[in-house]
Order: sequence, then C-alpha cells, then structure tokens
Amino acid sequence: MRYGRLWIWWLVAGMAATAGHYVLPEGSVVASIVYDVVGVATAVGILLALRLHRPQRPAMWRWFAAGQITFVLGDLTYEFYENVLHRSPYPSFADVFYLGSYPMLFAGLVLLVRRHRSEAGDLIDAAIVATGIGLVFWLFVLYPVAADSGTSTLERVTTVAYPAADAMVLALLARLFTGGGARTASARLLVAGAVLMLAADTLFAVIPLYTSASTHLADPVFLLAYVLWSVAALHPSMAVEHGGGGRTAARVGPSRLLLFGACALLAPSLLLVPQIGADPVGRLSVAIGAGALILLVLARMSGFVFEVRRQSAELTRAAMQDTLTGVASRRCFEDALRQSLTAGSRPQIALLGLNGFKNVNDELGRPLGDRVLNSLAARLAAAAPGDALVARIGGDEFAVLLRSAGADQARTVAASLTHALSAPVAVDGHELYVGVAIGLAGGAGVTPVELLRQAETAMYTAKQTGEPVRRWTPALDERAGEFVRLGAEIRTALDSGQFRVVYQPIVELPTGRVAAVEALVRWEHPTRGLVSPAAFIPVAERNGLIVELGEWILRTACARLASWRTTLGPAAPDRVSVNVSARQLARPHFAATVAAALADSGLPASCLAVEVTETAVFEGGQAVVALHELRALGVRIALDDFGTGHSSLGLLQTVPVDILKVDKSFVDNVTEAGRHTVIADALHQVSAGLGLVAVAEGVETAAQAEALHRLGYCYLQGYHFGRPVADPDFALSEAIAGEQSYEVPA
Ligand code: C2E
Ligand code: MG
Ligand code: MG
Repeated sequence: MRYGRLWIWWLVAGMAATAGHYVLPEGSVVASIVYDVVGVATAVGILLALRLHRPQRPAMWRWFAAGQITFVLGDLTYEFYENVLHRSPYPSFADVFYLGSYPMLFAGLVLLVRRHRSEAGDLIDAAIVATGIGLVFWLFVLYPVAADSGTSTLERVTTVAYPAADAMVLALLARLFTGGGARTASARLLVAGAVLMLAADTLFAVIPLYTSASTHLADPVFLLAYVLWSVAALHPSMAVEHGGGGRTAARVGPSRLLLFGACALLAPSLLLVPQIGADPVGRLSVAIGAGALILLVLARMSGFVFEVRRQSAELTRAAMQDTLTGVASRRCFEDALRQSLTAGSRPQIALLGLNGFKNVNDELGRPLGDRVLNSLAARLAAAAPGDALVARIGGDEFAVLLRSAGADQARTVAASLTHALSAPVAVDGHELYVGVAIGLAGGAGVTPVELLRQAETAMYTAKQTGEPVRRWTPALDERAGEFVRLGAEIRTALDSGQFRVVYQPIVELPTGRVAAVEALVRWEHPTRGLVSPAAFIPVAERNGLIVELGEWILRTACARLASWRTTLGPAAPDRVSVNVSARQLARPHFAATVAAALADSGLPASCLAVEVTETAVFEGGQAVVALHELRALGVRIALDDFGTGHSSLGLLQTVPVDILKVDKSFVDNVTEAGRHTVIADALHQVSAGLGLVAVAEGVETAAQAEALHRLGYCYLQGYHFGRPVADPDFALSEAIAGEQSYEVPA
C-alpha cells in the first residue's frame, strides 16, 4: 500500500505541532494559528483517508469529518472573538459550532458501535460502567457547574452541556470496551482520541471550578485528540471491517466481576466525600445511582445464572448423545433402561460387540475406523424397530433397548441386526467385513447394571463359541465362574508341569506311511483328571496364558520330532503340525518365537507346520503378517477345521496356505451319498486345483478311509489310524493303513 505509512508521519507531525503549541506564548497569534492548522489538518486528514483507503462503509468517517470541520469552525470563531474583537464572550457563537459538532460525532460513533454484535449482557455491562462513571461525573462536574450561582443560566447550561455530551460519548465508548469490539488499530486510535476529548472537556469545566489556572491547559489535550482522530482515519486498518462478532456467549470473567464490584461499591463510598455526604442533592444522587447500579448488576447476574442453566442443559443434552455416531450415549441408554425397569415393563437388551474392530483402527487409522463405526451405527438405527433405543456404549460396542418385548421378539431383532451388519462396509476403497457377536438379556426385577452385565456375559460367550447370538442364562455365569477358576489353575499347571503333548499320526495313502503327526496338548489335572483342550484353550486364550503355553507346546513338539529323527531315521514322520491360537499369532514377534524354537531344537523349518483356524486369520491384520513371515522361514501353514468357517474360500486368496485340514463334519457321512460327500469332494478339488495338500480329519472307520481315498484324499488323520497319545506306535498305524487295498483314484 503506497500510503500505508502516512499515518506515522501524520502522528509525528501532529505531536510536534502539539508540543510547539504548548511552548508558544499563551494566547499569541502564532499559537492560535498552530491550533487552527492542526484542527483543519485533522478534517483534511479524514477526508484524505477516505480517498486513499476507500473503506467499505465510509459513512462513519464522513460524520467524523463533518463533526471535525464544525469543531474547527468553532475554534475559528473563538479565535475571531479573542484576536480580532479582543473579547471572550461565554457562551458565544463558537459554542454553537462546538456543541453542534456533537450530534455528528455521535452519529459516527453509533455507526462504529453498531458494527459489533450486541448481546444483552454486553449492553448491561456498558450501562453499569456508564452509570458508575456518569455518577462521578454528575457529582464532581455537572452538578457543581450547574449549582455555581456566580454565573448566568445560559452560561451554566452551556458549561454543563459539554461534559453531559461527553458523558454520552463515554456511554457509547463503554459499549465498545465491554463488547470486546475495538479490535483494529484504527478503532483503538479512535477510542483513544474520544477519551482525550472527554478528558479535555472535563479539564475545561473543572479547572475554573477548583483552581485559578487558565483553561488553556486543556488545549494540548484537545489537540492530541484531533491528531489521534486523523491518525485513526489514515491508519490502513480503517478500511478493514472492525472486529466484533466471534463471541458467542456473554462471558463473565474475573476482570468483569472486579469491574462490577468497583462500580457497585463506588456509590456508597462517594458518601464518604464530605461535600457530597452533607449535601441533600448529593445524597439523593448517590441513592439513585446506587439503586440503578444494583438493579443493573442484578439483571446481569440473573442473565448469567440463566446462561449457566442453559449451558448445563446443553451439556446434559450432549452427554446423552454419542458425539461420533449421533446415536444415544451409554448414559442415555442406562437412563432409559432404568426408567423402563422402574416403570415395571420387561425390557430386553441386545449388546453388540464388533469382532476385530481394533484391527481396522490399528491398520487403517482412527479416522477410517470412525467412519466404519458411523456407517455401522446408521445401519443399526435403520434395522432396529422404531421404538427401540440404539446406543453406542463402548469403543466397539453398541446396545439396543427394546422397552417391552418378549424373548422371541428380541431374538428376531437380534437376527435382523446381525443381518444388517453382515454386508461389507465400503470406506476409502476398502471393503471391510466387521463381524458382530450379540448377547441378549431381559426381564424384570433386576438392576440396569445387572442386566447389562448379563448381556455382556452372553456377548462374550457368543464371541468365544463363534455363535452370532447368545441369550444369557444362569449357566453362563457358572461358566464364567468356572472360566475364572480354570484361568487361575492354568498358571499353576504351567509352573508345576501338568501339561503334556500327545501326537496323532497323519497317514499317507496308498503307502500307509505316517507322514506327519499333529501335536495336541493335554492337561493332567491333579484332581479333575484329564482336562480337554476344548475346555481350557479358550480360557488360556482369554487370559493370555496361551502365549506362554503355546510356546511351551511348540518347543516340546519341535524337540520331540528332532529326537524321533535321530532315533528313527527315515522312519520318523516328515513333519509335526502344531496348533496355534489367534492370540499367539497376533503377538508382534510370533515368527521370531518359532524361529527360536526351531533353532534350539535343531529341527529344519520344513519339518514344522502350524495349524490355524479360519477365525484366527479371518480378520487379517498382524495374524496374516505373521503367517507370511512363517512362510518365509519355510514353515508350512495349515488351515484347520476347513469348511466350517464362513469365508473359507475367500481366505485362500489372502492367507498363505499349504495344507487344508478338511473338517471332521464332512468326513462323518462320507460313506453315504449326500451333501457332505459332495462338499468333501469339492474341497479336495479346490485344494488340488490350488496345489495344496488336503488332509481329512476325524477318520474313524476303514469305510470312511476308503471313501475318502476314492475321492482323491491322500492324507488322513483319525482314531481309525491312531488316537493322540504321548508315544504313538507308527508301525501299528502303518499296519492299519496298509491292511486295506486302496483303489488308486483315476
Ligand atoms: P483340532 O486341531 O482340530 O484337533 C483335532 C481334534 O480332533 C483333537 O481333539 C483330536 O483328538 C480329535 N480327533 C482326532 N481324530 C479323531 C477322530 O477320529 N474322532 C474324533 N471324534 N475326534 C478326533 P483335541 O485334542 O481334544 O483338541 C481339540 C481342539 O483343541 C483342537 O482341534 C485344537 O483346536 C485345540 N487344541 C488342541 N491342542 C492344542 C494346542 O496344542 N494348541 C492350541 N492352540 N490348540 C489346541
Ligand atoms: Mg488342529
Ligand atoms: Mg481340526
């Protein structure tokens, strides 16, 4: 901006002129000329600024310029009286111009103040400040001048008119201060100029009242006020829209309270001033002023209380809603549940726990996870019955409240909720499958906390068993209690060596050779006897001990095959298959653990296979990373219980697999023509097509073995060939396998 620095020069020149005027002899012609030049320059400066900066709203500045010109006319008239006519009448025509400039000044200030958004609180604050200062003004300036009996009525009215007009300017300025406006440098300069003008007028009125000094003392203050006004106009920020806005709530901070306190205390303390306390008009003025101040402060405080109430109501409303998804919050859900329980109805609740949502967050980032949650919440809200309450009650947990429904209806709703969540969520080009487990609980005569706990227990049971929906029964609590007990005992069992590893042969057809063994863990419990892994593996998975137990099994199995390889030579099985849980795979350094177990036992990596279930790798994430790392080591990967999960074939595209272990359920009826035979056939075809090895599990009879071999299966495992035992008899298994004459499949 070419004239961006003009205001600085203007300020320097103005201050120099003010100083010059001050040192010039009082009342001299030169001093008068300097005074008038500054006055005219101020009006010119404002008009010049209007041309240079072209503000969006010039009206305010035009009023200031007009006011200033009128003021200068007053000065010129005054000088004319003093220097040409050599008399100083008071009041005179000069005062007509001076006082006539005030309406224009007001118009400009009103336009300035109006740009700031007004709030009731700010206006009251301004009124408090104006009343407080106005009271002082009245008592020390206006009233004494008005009561001065030594002067004419016209003189008194005129003298009072100036500070009175200034007090109105002050009220307008107070509005600017309290409204948090006056943000730009230009506005600040303007305010400073107005304050100086007020000070000068006050000095002018007060000096003859209390001292014998000349009123010319006020001249430099008048001049500085002029200078600041023109500098305010010339400052480039004059073209900027003056601040304001921004504030939304009427704040009452410590400084505001201090101000209120000072204003409220001001009135009574004025009574301590002798000439006021003793004067009836003084006392009456203080009483009226104090009354007005008290009413204003009361109004402000009641507004404040109202605001606090409104805000707390807003907070409560916010607490009732989940900010991310917009469905109800946990608190809202608990409140609604409590209400419906106390009303005597029999509410049903469905607690939904997302499966593997943590992986989505970990791998794709929270923002994407948030969008998944949002989309799932929307689906839930759409799928739930109209009168149901849908809430998000935890990071990846939702709950649905059916205020009065039967158990059957709850089951139907749960089924439709599962269905609603089953379709993949499409975000950012990802197709995400987020599974869900639902726990149902309901009834009367329980606390909300207890009902939620029951639904939670049912939900966790559903997660463990892989069912989509589970209803709470007292047996589940027993099971949970049993879980806790078993969990504690596993720790002791690990420390005192109660676990064993048994091995079940996997035979190769048609030779009958034991090609591999599967390592299976057993717990020889001192009082319970042999505990099935089906009973304690889920417990160890939940309390995390599976990691330690699993590593022990892995090391034991590797060492065992290594020792068979030394003792049996070529008669030893080629491979040992070790079952690995999801929780083990999810650990960041699982592949390193396996590598260490192999190194310590001296077993080549190709002699080891890990068996994972579809559910362990279904959600992708670290589990699949671990499988790739194992693959890179040379370890084989077997998918256990293949065909029982819900996306078996899809998994083959994402997970590195070498071996498919076809589930026992397809083997059971393989001798009869039917669906299972067709599936067993298809699974073999798939594995052959993908170059994988198929192993049929749970072969209990020779007929099953024969039927499987006819379908093309070359690797079989089951009680027929040998149960899992600590010391398998490989020769016996081979003999059993060799007894039969297998037709070589075409
Ligand atoms: P799985 O890995 O599918 O193991 C096969 C299960 O089928 C074993 O039961 C085995 O004893 C049983 N089985 C084998 N042949 C037959 C048969 O002809 N008929 C019948 N009815 N059953 C047969 P087990 O040992 O009770 O293990 C059950 C499950 O526990 C295993 O299923 C596996 O998921 C888990 N598990 C066992 N040992 C371990 C382990 O060391 N680590 C981990 N993480 N899980 C293990
Ligand atoms: Mg297995
Ligand atoms: Mg299996």
